[in-house]
Amino acid sequence: VSRQWHLKSIQSITYNHFVERATNEALPDTATAAATSSTTSSTTNPFRLAVKDNIATIDLPTQCASRILASHASPFEATIVRQLRSRGATIVGKTNMDEFGMGSHSTNSTHGAVRNPLDETRSAGGSSGGSAVAVRVGDADVALGTDTGGSVRLPAAYTGTVGYKPSYGMLSRFGVVPYANSLDTVGLLAPTTRPIRELVFGTGLDKEHDSQDPTCLSPESRLRCAGACPATLPENLSQLTVGIPLEYNIEELDPSIRAAWTAAASALADKLGINVVPVSLPTTKEALCAYYVLAPAEASSNLAKYDGVRYGVRGDDDISADDASGDNSTLYSETRGLGFGDEVKRRILLGTYTLSSEAMDNYFIQAQRVRRLVQRDFDRVFRLGNPLHEHHRQFDLSDMPETTGLQDKRGPAQVDFLLCPAAPTFPPRLDEVQRQRSSVDVYMNDVFTVPASLAGLPAVSVPARTEGEEGFPAGMQLIGQYWDDSRLLYMAERLE
Ligand code: GLN
Repeated sequence: VSRQWHLKSIQSITYNHFVERATNEALPDTATAAATSSTTSSTTNPFRLAVKDNIATIDLPTQCASRILASHASPFEATIVRQLRSRGATIVGKTNMDEFGMGSHSTNSTHGAVRNPLDETRSAGGSSGGSAVAVRVGDADVALGTDTGGSVRLPAAYTGTVGYKPSYGMLSRFGVVPYANSLDTVGLLAPTTRPIRELVFGTGLDKEHDSQDPTCLSPESRLRCAGACPATLPENLSQLTVGIPLEYNIEELDPSIRAAWTAAASALADKLGINVVPVSLPTTKEALCAYYVLAPAEASSNLAKYDGVRYGVRGDDDISADDASGDNSTLYSETRGLGFGDEVKRRILLGTYTLSSEAMDNYFIQAQRVRRLVQRDFDRVFRLGNPLHEHHRQFDLSDMPETTGLQDKRGPAQVDFLLCPAAPTFPPRLDEVQRQRSSVDVYMNDVFTVPASLAGLPAVSVPARTEGEEGFPAGMQLIGQYWDDSRLLYMAERLE
């Protein structure tokens, strides 16, 4: 777990991870908080919380690392922030990120790139890079990030921290600036898994429905899902099976990360007595393409509101709404031209195109099909059924070819969790990221994180020791069935 990195002395150094710091004098003392949490429930123990800049806070601005929101302060607070405050959180600051969550290296920020404390010349991962660094250097005990296609897990992998993306719809997104609504989740980062598990499951956060977030699972569904998933691991771990998805063993995988993956699998089998079996998730290869069609499509629609009238800085102070009357397009284009960074503009163009009438069938509709296949792949290998899809199974069966559905459920590969790396490589150098030939090269980094996002499944990245690249840690990812989050985090603790 890369404990060889001693970072105590660098607490005062900045890695450009905060965009705003709280001036609160009464921050809890970490040592006390940690000491008490080991003996009692963490419900009301004070802890320091860093919050990603796309999550609304009332005492600090919320600007998504975007120029277009440079004058924005939220009049209300995100539900998740309120929930964590009531559980003892003191906010230490807002963290730097890729603009609106679009990126994998926290370089697409109006505040400049976040640097990795393990090596300042390298990427800290994105888009929740600032949150990962805040936790890594001890500026926060826990940090909030958002994970749409890997933005909590990738920075966790690159910085040697733990990053947890919950089941879609478990934690409220009210007050979280949307990027791609059908994929967005709020995630947590911490130095180890335990504080995350205690916070979410020890204090009942997983049971709290928020009526202000229409995508937040209803109380009835929560009950049904909770009834379908055990809350803890069996005492005898040999009852568990962990699957190794063969399609994740790609050519581009760094050999040291592959070795760490093998070592983690062996440790589960040899030390814990867990069955480790190979499984196949055939649609994995298509998942990345589908993600990069769906996410920009939803983003292009979400970002339409930043037009200089409802939200966003005016492009040109000389253009008043009156001057522009009759030709608002000037106001809009100036505002959006100046306010959005290059990557955000690229996504808006891409999304607008794939949703256009001539491209819709070839891109958006196809991507949705792939998304369903990805979900089906996962449902086929997990021992537990997907509580959201269960009641459709009867219908699906009559509808599907012989080789899918329950047929495969009877097959041998019935696993509790999947184990695979969170990223194919170690953190790249920041100058390499800037020099990448095309944005598609950057998108490649998300190849292991997007499948769970497309399926709405819980996933967590925990650091593993490696032999390569000067001992950089690798992120090992565990993926679980929908709503099997509690067991997933217990399992992650065993992997640490
Ligand atoms: N890197 C991915 C993207 O740019 C994921 C980002 C995220 O999860 N917010 O879309």
